[in-house]
Amino acid sequence: MLRRVLFDGDGPPSWRQHASCAGLDELFFPEPSDPEAVAACRAVCEFCPVQAACLEDVMSWERSGRCHGVVAGLTPVERTRLAREQRGEPDPGGAVA
Ligand code: SF4
Repeated sequence: MLRRVLFDGDGPPSWRQHASCAGLDELFFPEPSDPEAVAACRAVCEFCPVQAACLEDVMSWERSGRCHGVVAGLTPVERTRLAREQRGEPDPGGAVA
């Protein structure tokens, strides 16, 4: 979502017009150490009608270790972990519950 809006110059993807976070970009870049701010983002994403498309999109281009903000209800750390899982790599931190 953010890549296409900010960097591609192609304009937002069509699903973006249904995003619950439209106009809330500042909310989606909370301090990672602020659990209340992260929870506020997750609350918006939880009922977003395009969450699946948003997650698929971000996971298709985002590079691990260069993640920012909450996207599709996931923090940068969570997206990095998901990317690792999708590549079939073990979690360096050990087993995940
Ligand atoms: S899932 Fe969250 S970040 Fe993605 S479009 Fe919806 S509200 Fe925005």
